[in-house]
Amino acid sequence: MAFQLQKDQLVFIPLGGSEQFGANLNVYGYKGKYLAIDLGIGFADEYYPGIDILLPNPKFLEDNRKDLSGLIITHAHEDHIGAVAYLWPRLKCPIYCTEFTAEVLKKKLAENPECKAAQIHVIEPYEMAEIGPFKVRFIPVSHSIPEACSIVLETEHGQVVHSGDWNLDEAPVLGTKTKAEDFKKIGQEGVLAYVGDSTNAGVAGYSGSEGDVEKGLSAVFKEFEKRIVVTIFSSNIGRIQSICRAAKANNRHVAVLGRSLHRMIGCAKACGYLADIDDFVPEEDISAIPRENLVVIATGSQGEPRAQMALLARGSHRSLKLERGDSVIFSARPIPGNEKNIILVQNRLAAGGIDVMSPRETDHVIHVSGHPARDEIKQMYDWLRPKIVVPVHGEKVMIEDQAELARACQIDKAIAPNNGSVIQLAPIEQAGIIDHVDTGLLAVEPGRIIESGHVAISDRRKLQYSGVVHVSFVMSKKGVLMGRPHVSTTGLIDPKDAQGDEFEADLEDEVQDILEGLRHHSRKPMDRWEEEVRIGIRRAVNDILRFKPNVNVHMMEV
Ligand SMILES: [Zn+2]
Repeated sequence: MAFQLQKDQLVFIPLGGSEQFGANLNVYGYKGKYLAIDLGIGFADEYYPGIDILLPNPKFLEDNRKDLSGLIITHAHEDHIGAVAYLWPRLKCPIYCTEFTAEVLKKKLAENPECKAAQIHVIEPYEMAEIGPFKVRFIPVSHSIPEACSIVLETEHGQVVHSGDWNLDEAPVLGTKTKAEDFKKIGQEGVLAYVGDSTNAGVAGYSGSEGDVEKGLSAVFKEFEKRIVVTIFSSNIGRIQSICRAAKANNRHVAVLGRSLHRMIGCAKACGYLADIDDFVPEEDISAIPRENLVVIATGSQGEPRAQMALLARGSHRSLKLERGDSVIFSARPIPGNEKNIILVQNRLAAGGIDVMSPRETDHVIHVSGHPARDEIKQMYDWLRPKIVVPVHGEKVMIEDQAELARACQIDKAIAPNNGSVIQLAPIEQAGIIDHVDTGLLAVEPGRIIESGHVAISDRRKLQYSGVVHVSFVMSKKGVLMGRPHVSTTGLIDPKDAQGDEFEADLEDEVQDILEGLRHHSRKPMDRWEEEVRIGIRRAVNDILRFKPNVNVHMMEV
C-alpha cells in the first residue's frame, strides 16, 4: 500500500542526499500537504558510463503533486539547486528562496523553455512565508556561497529546524555569520526536530574561517614569483573576494576563466556583492600582463575534463599557456568520487614544470569547508536542544557519524534515514521510521532523462569490461546456411592487426560448425538457434581470451 499521510501527522522524507553526496531532495508532510526543500544534482562517477549528472527521482512528489504546496531552495549550490531546471516541469509548484539564489535560479530556468511558467518568490532573511499549511522562516547562516539559509518550520507540534548547509565561520568575508542569538531564541521557543548537514560530522573541531583563507592566500601569493592560477568552486563568491584582496595586497591583477565563474560573478554583482573589487583583466589581455603581476581564477577544481583547469593542464587553452615556474593552487576540497580526475590534472601540471599546491600541502589556510565540523554541530544542538535529530546530507558514514554524535549529546532520538524513509516527527510518541516510499536516481543524457538503473547504463557498464561480438548469418527455411556467417568484434582485438582478422575468421568458422551441428544432430527448433550460437561463441572466445564477451546474434531467414 502506498504511504498515506494522516492529517495529524508531521513527517519528514528525504528523497535524495541521505545515502550519497549530492542530489538533495527533502520533503515535509503536514496537515495532508507536502513541502519540498532543495532539488540538487549529484555528479556521476565511472559507475555510470556516459553520464555526468544525476538527479533525485521525484516520483513520490509527482504522485502527490496535487498536495505539493511548494519548493524551498536553501542556497544556490548545485547539489541543492541544480536539478530544478530538469525536474520543475514534473512538479510545477511555486519556488521560494533568497535573492541571490533566485538570481542564479532564473538563469538556469531560462535555459529550459518548459520552465517558463515557474514562479520564484524571493523571501527576505527572517521573513515568515506561508506556504500551504506550512509557516516557514528563513534564518541566514554562513556557508561557502552568499545568502544560505536554515529553514524553520512552525507547526502545531513544535518547530523543525532544517539546517541546509552551514558552518560557524566567525569572520566570513562576505555576507552574514551564523548568529548564536538567532538559534538560541529558536531553541528557547522549543524545537521538536533538527534535520541537519552531516558532511563533516566525522571531522573534529571547527571548520575555520574564510577570513583566514584571505590571509593564507596572501601569504602564499608572496612565495610565488610567476603566474598564479587558483581553482575554486564557481559559486564560492567569498573565495573570489578573498583571492582578489590577496592579489591586490601582492600587486597582482586578477583574470577569470570559465563560463560558470562569469555567470556566478554576474549574479553576485546583481545582488550587490563584489562591489569593491577592481575590474578583472579581460581574457584576451591575459598574455600581455607580466607573469609576476597576474592571478587567474579558473573553474575545474574537481578535475572536470572540460573545465578550464583541465584545458590549462593539457596546454590547450586558447588564451593562456602556463609555463615552467607558474603555480596552481587548488583552493577547494575534492568531492568524493572526483579524486582520480583531480590527480590526473595535477600530474599533467607537474609534468609541465608547474608548481601544484593543495590545502594539505601547506601550513597556510588556503581552503576552509563550508560545512560544520563536530564542535559546530554540538554547539547547534546546545542552542536548539531538539527532541529529535535527523542527520541528512552526506554519505552513509557521515550520517551515522552525526547520529552517534547526537546520541553522545543526550538527544532523545537520533534517527538515521535512508533515501525514501518516511520519518514520523509527530505525534512524537511514535516518532521513527514508519514507512518507505519510492526514490532513486535519474541520469541526465543530452537528449533524455532515464532511470540510473536503466538497462542502457548497465549494458554500457558490462561493455566496458568485456567487449562485444556481433554475429550475423542467413538461413534458408530448411535450416541450410546461405553463404558465410559474418563476425565483427568491438573491444577485443586490434582490427589493424593480422591476428585480429584471423580471430574473427576463426569465430566465423566456429559459427559454421555450430550451425552444422544443430542441423544434423539436434532436435532444437530453429528459433532456438540464435541462442545456441550466442552460447557457443561466448564459450569459444572464453577458451581463447579467458573471459566472456557480450555476444549479439542476428539470424535472417530467407
Ligand atoms: Zn552548499
